[in-house]
Amino acid sequence: MPSCDDCPFDEKLLLCCPRHPLSGAQKSLSVDGRIVRACIYLNEDGRCAIYNERPKGCRDFVCDRLLGEEKSLLLYRLNIKRQS
Ligand code: SF4
Ligand code: SF4
Repeated sequence: MPSCDDCPFDEKLLLCCPRHPLSGAQKSLSVDGRIVRACIYLNEDGRCAIYNERPKGCRDFVCDRLLGEEKSLLLYRLNIKRQS
């Protein structure tokens, strides 16, 4: 998903991947010269190591960034429909 790919690492740490949603497990990661705490499955490149098998809580999570994108897509589709 483009928004998640472009999402700054600090937003991931703050919003969706600070810890595993079921176990709460964290690990230390080295990011831009800093040591941060994150979900055990978050890689240093900001990607989830178990993305295709991630828990339901991760799949269902919608942050403001994604919500804004969904709203834009919905408005775009409504405008296309009105024009046809
Ligand atoms: S769900 Fe939201 S906060 Fe998490 S990586 Fe995607 S855009 Fe960023
Ligand atoms: S399992 Fe993956 S998507 Fe879920 S919090 Fe951990 S790193 Fe993020």
